[in-house]
Amino acid sequence: MPDNPAATVQVRNSRLKLIALTVLVLAMTLTVAVSLWLVQKKARELALPTLHSELWQAYQIHMEMDRLLLASQALLQGRLEPDDLVVRTQVLRSLTQSLEGQHLFDFLPEARPAAENTLQRIIALSRQWDEQAQWGNSVAARQVAEQAVKSLPPLQKPMHEVMVATNISLANELDAERQHLYGYFTGLGWALLGLLVGVSLLVLRLIGNYREAHELSHNLTELNQHLEQRVSERTLELAEGQALLKQILDASPSDVVLTDNSGKQVYFVNQRLMQRLNLDKAGDFSLNRLFCNAREALHFREALLARHRVDDWEGLLAGDPPYWGVLSGRLLEYRGGPAQLIWSYDISVRKDMEQELLMLATTDALTGLSNRHAFMQRAQELLKTAERFEQPCTLLMLDIDHFKQINDTHGHQVGDKVLATLGELLRKELREVDIIGRLGGEEFAALLPQSDQIEAARVAERLRASVEAMPQPCAGGAPLRMTLSIGLASRHPAEPLEGLLGRADTALYKAKSAGRNRVVRATS
Ligand code: GH3
Ligand code: MG
Ligand code: MG
Repeated sequence: MPDNPAATVQVRNSRLKLIALTVLVLAMTLTVAVSLWLVQKKARELALPTLHSELWQAYQIHMEMDRLLLASQALLQGRLEPDDLVVRTQVLRSLTQSLEGQHLFDFLPEARPAAENTLQRIIALSRQWDEQAQWGNSVAARQVAEQAVKSLPPLQKPMHEVMVATNISLANELDAERQHLYGYFTGLGWALLGLLVGVSLLVLRLIGNYREAHELSHNLTELNQHLEQRVSERTLELAEGQALLKQILDASPSDVVLTDNSGKQVYFVNQRLMQRLNLDKAGDFSLNRLFCNAREALHFREALLARHRVDDWEGLLAGDPPYWGVLSGRLLEYRGGPAQLIWSYDISVRKDMEQELLMLATTDALTGLSNRHAFMQRAQELLKTAERFEQPCTLLMLDIDHFKQINDTHGHQVGDKVLATLGELLRKELREVDIIGRLGGEEFAALLPQSDQIEAARVAERLRASVEAMPQPCAGGAPLRMTLSIGLASRHPAEPLEGLLGRADTALYKAKSAGRNRVVRATS
């Protein structure tokens, strides 16, 4: 899938927005939680009845001072037991003790030192009397009562001022705490609002994301369907193309085969070649089965691997019967690896024609022997070999005696027959290694390798005698007598063919001159 930078940036931005909104919502949730905790804490403080009971305690001290005064007066008048006074001093002490160390007047708009002093004085007196009054000690109780009667009355009015100051300070403190509570509530409200906004934005973002994802999914589905359609179309096209290609290859006049580079895995063999090689399945193919000769198969394979392409390779290919084919080969890539494509074309007809043309060009039609041109060529080669190996080699020049008369007497057709019969006789009498040719008219030549002059003269004599005794080709007509004159010459070292021919011709001439029907050796 190709990269789309715009889409990538959009996806990244969307993700960043989502992360930012999530962080915002988490922060707002934390703020709401902290605000709730503070509000709850402050409300609990305000709700506790015992928390701001200083006014009530001041009032109780005021009342207890009255009771202690009355009790002291009653003790001095003998109407009260000493231990009852002790109870009163302990009650007062317990009340003053709870106010000890407290900042009762911290919230007063302005300091009231008199009230502070009054409170400290009462606390000090209550502590003193509490320590002084002992259970069962009437003297101590009396002393305390006397002091109380003297000290308490002047403190009663100032104590009232303590209560007033306490009330004002407490009211101020409560006001401040309510203000705090209001502040916390406000903060909580803002935090809740922020949380609401954050959650809303997050929800909107999530809805947006969901829609984008939905749209993307829809587009992907469409794209997928489109791709699937294209793939199936292309698959169909390819299958049709493959089927067509196979039809073409099977119908092709060429034989086609595709293998991997080792030749072991065969990918394709066309129908024509399967039939020609009589294969059951393509996997049975190998180059050794294609070529008649395993060495040629190896050479072809080596040439293809070395040059990557081979053209116009002519070889005898296996078949029933074997046939001449021209082969081409290519190295190419197939299924991710190197492969060999080889095709061959049957050129048997051309080869046959070539053979026939060659035969026509080199053979004398009447006798089936080599014609002059072919004889000269083959004789040259044979002479070269003899030269190289320093072997003897002898040339015979043969000429029918008075052949003109044969023609004249028996007719040209009989003359032809005589020529053909002589050709047959020469082929029969001479060895396969000997080269025989009709040089023209009634003149023949034979080159005998590895034969010196003596040996060749014996052969020539045998030929001459055979011709003389040759059966009459026209028994019904006038009697036909035929003889042969032969001149022979053995090769001299490095002698060219022309020289040898010349010397043999001279010897033949001598044979004619000497009366014909004889063999004459060249003297020089
Ligand atoms: P000589 O003994 O001196 O060789 O005499 P000759 O008659 O054999 O030689 P000459 O050269 O005088 O005659 C050769 C004859 O061979 C002449 C020609 O008509 C005949 N001739 C050449 N080619 C052919 C051929 O293909 N067929 C036939 N029937 N006759 C041929
Ligand atoms: Mg002749
Ligand atoms: Mg002649």
